[in-house]
Amino acid sequence: MIKRINLLSEETIIKIAAGEIIENPSSIIKELVENSIDANSETINIEIGNNGKDYIKVRDDGIGFKREDLKLAFKRHTTSKISNIKDLDEALTLGFRGEALSSIANVSNVVVITKTKEDSVGTLVKINHNGDIISMEDIVTNNGTTIICKDLFDNIPVRKKYLESKNYEVNKTNDIITRLSLSHTDISFEYIKDDKLVLKTNRNAEQINNIYSVLGKNVAENLLEFSCNEESFSVKGFISNNNLYKSNRNNQFIFVNNRSITDNGISRGIEKQYNSIIPLNRYPVFLLYINIDSELIDVNIHPKKDVIKFLNIEEIINTLSREVHNKLFKNLKIFEVQTKNKDTKNIFNKYYTNDSDNFISNSDNIIKFKDLSYENNFVSDEVNEIYTDDKREDNNSQVVTPSENVLVENDFEDIFFEKEKSERKILVNGYRHIGNLFLQYILLEDNVEKSLYILDHHAAHERINYEKLIKDYEKNNIPTQNLISGFLVELTNNEFDLVISIKDKLNSVGIEIEEFGDNSIIIRSIPAYIENIDPERLIRDIIDSSNKLEHSIYDIDPYTIMKKACSASIKTGDNVSKLDVVKLIEMLDKCNMPFTCPHGRPTLVKITKNQLDKEFFRIQNEG
Ligand code: ADP
Ligand code: MG
Repeated sequence: MIKRINLLSEETIIKIAAGEIIENPSSIIKELVENSIDANSETINIEIGNNGKDYIKVRDDGIGFKREDLKLAFKRHTTSKISNIKDLDEALTLGFRGEALSSIANVSNVVVITKTKEDSVGTLVKINHNGDIISMEDIVTNNGTTIICKDLFDNIPVRKKYLESKNYEVNKTNDIITRLSLSHTDISFEYIKDDKLVLKTNRNAEQINNIYSVLGKNVAENLLEFSCNEESFSVKGFISNNNLYKSNRNNQFIFVNNRSITDNGISRGIEKQYNSIIPLNRYPVFLLYINIDSELIDVNIHPKKDVIKFLNIEEIINTLSREVHNKLFKNLKIFEVQTKNKDTKNIFNKYYTNDSDNFISNSDNIIKFKDLSYENNFVSDEVNEIYTDDKREDNNSQVVTPSENVLVENDFEDIFFEKEKSERKILVNGYRHIGNLFLQYILLEDNVEKSLYILDHHAAHERINYEKLIKDYEKNNIPTQNLISGFLVELTNNEFDLVISIKDKLNSVGIEIEEFGDNSIIIRSIPAYIENIDPERLIRDIIDSSNKLEHSIYDIDPYTIMKKACSASIKTGDNVSKLDVVKLIEMLDKCNMPFTCPHGRPTLVKITKNQLDKEFFRIQNEG
């Protein structure tokens, strides 16, 4: 049978259009909360049941609806925000389309309770799917508006069936509310999900307090603050220190003139500064509040997708990279082992000194967003092992103090920075070498700070060699060792092409290779002072890392190669007892970044006596 073309009914057309804006419960929440923000609210309360499928309720204390306006508000293309065509451009870029309420009514049963401050009595209306008012009553209520949506998509079974998966929806909603509450510190937000309070902020709190309320203690505690004022823009920024990182980019926030945006250029620029400070495939947390002349941005390229175009993007990225770099390097911290679930008192006192009512207590009925309470506890396994290991006391070991200037091999002396009597960066109080563990760790006691330091000698060696290589590389002078008669490596076609294409780069870091017949290479030399290097493993590591690079495989740079060279030299099971610990620590201390290996893993972790005492219940809570 030949199908005939039919004109869709008006009702169907409206449903299709509604689906474009209102795809899922989270988009309803976004539209309602944005309307509440536009209505000059000071407090916005969001409540949802069953991820919004049962009900969504948004209450505000804003300007409210006048009764006569209610009749129009839920009809298509009605808005108070575009009064004439001149405003249209600006209004559209800000997301005013005058369709949100009508679209929401199309897909759910809506009840509105509202009162303006001029009205003595409030109004309750019920709206049908066409946006018509089906009943109107007087009601006693506060100034402001409450909109309740129920039975979502019940009238569009197909849509209901294809609602996004539960997890996606939860994350999306969390993300929307997170971003809105972080960018509107002049509004108190409360978010209740299935009768549980998930988030609460207080208007006009210090920015860091707002961040604490939204992203939690661990994040707030590990943020570094900076600000800069350039001619055409200004930024207030909070960036994670080297102890805080995540496995995804969900905790990277960029707000431009109070609107949440995403910008890959800015994000990558900042992430670059964390290279080799945090582990590979981990991402820093940051919040950037950018204020910029609206002439310098173009919001139109993606009104819905939160992408904008900066005319001066280079300047912004350069400035941010510089600020982040400076802040980060001045505040590098040793990885401190934290025992879990300790009280929040310290941070409480720090941020909530005069108004403790503003603070939401850490009681059980508050659940934090799942991902946000990510715990940075990668060292805990090692610590557990340390706890169970029987301790061999070595009372003869010497206490090394910083004043005892230990001689360091000559070639390292000139390699590190020019400043000679630099301040010590690690183990500032001196240390006592207690002993070694698992042929891998060096245990050090700091009796002044009452702490145990655990040094990973592989990681430390990698860091030392890496910085030495960089210095030589930058002086264009990497000493090499020749491999007698060369070292043959057979490769696949692709691998071969890759290696040949980066031949010059390899050469610049002291790795000389030659083509040798079909898909084979000969390694002629490698950097001189990297011990125990396995040339084949080195080449294979470089190939592997290029596969993981986000961009073109040819983006591999000399620094990546040098990192690989350093890790290729490490053999597990090197006997730690043969090491000269004093010398190792001196050399590490001379590094620019002694706290992490080139791949961002810690070289040194710290456990305070206090934490141990807590663990053994010698003391409780008080820090
Ligand atoms: P838009 O926000 O694009 O104008 P909407 O359909 O979202 O379109 O809203 C239509 C109108 O309803 C708004 O222009 C505003 O005047 C009014 N409105 C919506 N929500 C609220 C609210 N919470 N308080 C007061 N007025 C509101
Ligand atoms: Mg709106």
